[in-house]
Amino acid sequence: MKCKRCKATAAVALPSHHAGFCEECYDLFFTRQVEKGIRRQKLLTFEDRVLVALSGGKDSLALMLVLSKLGYNVTGLHIDLAIPGSSPVARGVVERFCHKHGFKLIVKEMAEEGLAIPLVKARLNRPVCSACGKIKRYFFNKTALDEGYTVLATGHNLDDEIARLFSNTLRWDIAYLSDQGPALPAEGGFARKIKPLYRLSEFETANYSFLQGIEYHYAPCPYSQGASFTQYKKLWADLEDQMPGRKLDFYLGFLERGKEIFARHEQTHGDQLQPCERCGYPTSAEVCGVCRIREAVSRDDG
Ligand code: SF4
Ligand code: ZN
Repeated sequence: MKCKRCKATAAVALPSHHAGFCEECYDLFFTRQVEKGIRRQKLLTFEDRVLVALSGGKDSLALMLVLSKLGYNVTGLHIDLAIPGSSPVARGVVERFCHKHGFKLIVKEMAEEGLAIPLVKARLNRPVCSACGKIKRYFFNKTALDEGYTVLATGHNLDDEIARLFSNTLRWDIAYLSDQGPALPAEGGFARKIKPLYRLSEFETANYSFLQGIEYHYAPCPYSQGASFTQYKKLWADLEDQMPGRKLDFYLGFLERGKEIFARHEQTHGDQLQPCERCGYPTSAEVCGVCRIREAVSRDDG
């Protein structure tokens, strides 16, 4: 196969775009997809102070690199979950990456917050992933607001977004459907959130990371349970194989024609948010999810 742009031998084949690219032109393709996504959904301006959530996985690192190459003002944020075997590897990867590229990095240690994930897991007596997700989102938001960032960027790619959209649709979860998309505005005590890789698949991001020489996190989390999202990703990979381009069409179609309907419904029927009475974080209950986790963790201390 030849590169679509320069006709050299292609290094990456992309059936969904009916194209192949050599290394140099692939970099250009990937960067242009990110730029297009930013422009179409008005995700960023060059005045923004962007906080990029860095897990140590390829997607978030690729996002940080491409945004900085495009000239955006980026700072990394890593949440150290204190999970033995997994967290030290992830943190090391993020620290080396930021050091290599001269990026500013903020690290929040959950052990210092009394929220080390193994402790939370032991005290909660139920699968820990949903609590872990809540804790991460809480500190992403809090750090962005406390430290004056105008937007929080995460490395969710098209496959992540499709799996989530599919899961939300299977349950017809109107609240989640109304919120899903590459941009969530700042409101009611939440920072603005964006997902600039929403047009790029996991495969495309993995190729970019590989060609850019990005080292990423290999030690899987011991608590990962092969969630239903993995199943949905497999289903969609089969569909995409048979009908290249279907994933992006489905997602963009939802953004253009579906989302608004759910958002309108949610405006009149959705839960009203108010500040948590303990920490001020927006919540539909009196006390927010993370304050309730803190309570559960400390209750068993004595
Ligand atoms: Fe947290 Fe679950 Fe992810 Fe592990 S697999 S980092 S516990 S959300
Ligand atoms: Zn709270």
